[in-house]
Amino acid sequence: MKQIIPILYYLKDFKYFKMLFRKLSFLLPFILGTLTFMNAQKTEVVAGVTWDLASERAQNISGLTYQLFFDIPAEKSASIPAKVDISLNLKHKAQPLLLDFKVSRENLQKVTVNKKIVPIDFVAGHLIIDPIYLNVGGNKIQIEFIAGNQSLNRNADFLYTLLVPDRASTLFPCFDQPNLKARFTLSLQVPKSWDASANGALTKSTSTGLKKMLHYKETQPISTYLFAFAAGKFHRVSQEKKGRSMSMLFRETDSLKVAQNLDKIFDLHVTSILWLEDYTKIPMPFEKLDFVLLPGFQYGGMEHVGNIFYKESALILEESATDNQKLARARLIAHETAHYWFGDLVTMNWFNDVWLKEVFANFMAAKAVNPDFPEVNHELSFLISHHPTAYSEDRSGGSHPIQQALENLKDAGSLYGGIIYQKAPIVMRQLEKLMGTEPFQKGLQKYLKDFSYANATWDDLISILDELTPISLKEWAGIWVKEAGMPHLLTTALMNEDSNMEEITIQQVKSSPSNKHWQQETEIALFYADTIIKIPVRINGLKTSLPISKGLKKPLAILPNASAIGYGYFQLDDLSLQTFLSGKLTVNDEFLRGAISIALMEELINRKISGNDYLGYLLHSLKNEKESLNRQLLLGQLNTVFWTFLSDEQRSVSTPKIERLLWQLINENTFVSAKSAYFSTFRDIALSKEATETLFDIWSGKTNIPGLPISEPQQIDLAAALSLLLPEQASGIIDTQLIKTLNPDRKKRLQFIKPFLSPDTKKRDAAFESLYDAENRNVEPWVVDAVRYLNHPLRVKESTHYITQSLELLEEIQKTGDIFFPRQFITAVLSGHQSPTAAYYVKKFLQEHPDFPYRLKNKVLMAADLLFTIQHP
Ligand SMILES: [Zn+2]
Repeated sequence: MKQIIPILYYLKDFKYFKMLFRKLSFLLPFILGTLTFMNAQKTEVVAGVTWDLASERAQNISGLTYQLFFDIPAEKSASIPAKVDISLNLKHKAQPLLLDFKVSRENLQKVTVNKKIVPIDFVAGHLIIDPIYLNVGGNKIQIEFIAGNQSLNRNADFLYTLLVPDRASTLFPCFDQPNLKARFTLSLQVPKSWDASANGALTKSTSTGLKKMLHYKETQPISTYLFAFAAGKFHRVSQEKKGRSMSMLFRETDSLKVAQNLDKIFDLHVTSILWLEDYTKIPMPFEKLDFVLLPGFQYGGMEHVGNIFYKESALILEESATDNQKLARARLIAHETAHYWFGDLVTMNWFNDVWLKEVFANFMAAKAVNPDFPEVNHELSFLISHHPTAYSEDRSGGSHPIQQALENLKDAGSLYGGIIYQKAPIVMRQLEKLMGTEPFQKGLQKYLKDFSYANATWDDLISILDELTPISLKEWAGIWVKEAGMPHLLTTALMNEDSNMEEITIQQVKSSPSNKHWQQETEIALFYADTIIKIPVRINGLKTSLPISKGLKKPLAILPNASAIGYGYFQLDDLSLQTFLSGKLTVNDEFLRGAISIALMEELINRKISGNDYLGYLLHSLKNEKESLNRQLLLGQLNTVFWTFLSDEQRSVSTPKIERLLWQLINENTFVSAKSAYFSTFRDIALSKEATETLFDIWSGKTNIPGLPISEPQQIDLAAALSLLLPEQASGIIDTQLIKTLNPDRKKRLQFIKPFLSPDTKKRDAAFESLYDAENRNVEPWVVDAVRYLNHPLRVKESTHYITQSLELLEEIQKTGDIFFPRQFITAVLSGHQSPTAAYYVKKFLQEHPDFPYRLKNKVLMAADLLFTIQHP
């Protein structure tokens, strides 16, 4: 936009134009030419919020407040009349003021600026206020409008907002950028029987007729993406623990299940708050912390100030929940709570640094949950929950730096993924290790204090940390944060004549895109018959030599990355690879067992071993593994190897022995969470007639597994699995399950998924086509599940045509869907495929669409990584 628009507005004023025209009529051809030019410039009001627009507004606007009112009707389809009063100070009025409102022009009803009704000038999702109506200094803008529906998640009897990263402007007119923090005051009119939750505390509630009016207290300064409310039919529970009172809104109808989880959910929030207050030395920065549990919520959780939203099933766990699920719940709660400090109190200046709030939330969550789970091996847990996912994206053709460039906020949604959520926390732990725990903590405390209720960049943080360490962090951080890809390292042990080791060398096989080598710390483990020796190592450049002075004999195997913070493909030498794979080595250290399994999986993906080789290792290890995190890791790997790395023939040969082993483990084990973990895998890979009958009998209640209750969601999963295994009975099974399902939200989900499970390919095609309508993609987790069933390995022969169709739909999905949806959608589509044809379709599409959005292409390449790696005809 720059300085062009003021001239344009000057010319728009007809009086001046007429005068100009009279005096300068001989210049008519020139003037017309200029006008055409200026009209072209007007189209420079582009969709979304560009960095230039955001910077200009951030410098010009201050003292921002929004007073919002929404009149929410009971009917899902009725429109929502709304009003906003915006107060702001302007430093200058050299340019028109652009408000963001991504709706159609008709949604805007009346705009009043400084008590004067003004014409509505609406271009490319922006309401443009002419400077002639504005003051330098204080301004009041009042807008009457119909709320945009896109981010309102409207269901039959509840709705909720989800405005991250740039969706506030789909709901109401605002300055939708993270570095224009504002105080929000909200009033809601809702049906009398509804409850609601907002960022601020409820100050007043009045009823008239069938409606009630709710007024909420003004918030502290927050970014637009953190504004949120939920309203509808909810149950509410309030508890006070250690002087903190909180309320939980939820919809789960199984009151026994709720009761079993309630105390734990509140406890986890309180312990997270206390931990963070202690670590940061800053009291909880916002007045209240309530939370709303939503069925079908798009994410695990979202950290709105005063009003955290969660996926209901992530917090209200089944009685048979595994330790892993309990730990994941604790982490999720700690993650969202940590955002109160990291993200809500101090917010990134621009969404290119969104990774920073995510990395700290994950990092703090991992630290905070430890005291709650003394029985869990946290290093192992960190390893398992970060490395495999980070590698899966970083090794793919879609790898990107942790910090990504972002020109326009409308593309912010595509920045999220495993590089941010899984790789960045590993890098942050490397940074903490490099600096030392205490200086690192001090640095973070200063960062939070200096930028409270404001915004900061990664470079701001590094400047603070750099002061506290003699090491040059800028160079170290450059390669890890601003460059793509992962290291590939080779380890070699050099022996002397007496067969003693002299030194171990670690060579970096690959350099970074800017031709540098990653620096990192890790540990090397040497395995002997009766002992394991761990040696710390600091990898500095192309080649690192580690002198061995103790005269150690050659070990049976070497694990070059034996710590939870070493990162990269640490290729195993042939001898070590064979030793680990044989399963003959007894490893008592549970962390090392997990690290070995992850290292072997990397060898499988890098084609150093075959799927059948690895299957042998997995079955042998599963038989002996008692540690729950490792058990879950092995079961997950088994699922991937079974469906992705085995050919149809190999699969049918190995099915009976896998089923037998899992069935034996289900019955031998006495712990419900272990039984449940084995049973889920048994259900997911059952293929034989015998196993199918067993599953059918369990589902129909003819038989049961002693000590393993089957809950309603598990019954539904079973019914879905059975309808794939027994296509001729599919519709009867699903119809019976629909009758048996009591919870209304789960019933709706099953109804939605039903046609995707149909044995009739025409019905499945029609179901897929229904997804072209954005309305039918509203509940994203349902769509992801449905599409996964549609492309299940048992159905792939009839589903390759969905690949191109899905890729064609992906841009549209990104526009209408939430952050994680495009990646989840395309991952679900490709999940079952392993044929060269499927790989060909993906490659062909990308070739034929050279202008496909760059970040979206990355998501496709990440999702297709295993498909490109291994194909079975
Ligand atoms: Zn987060």
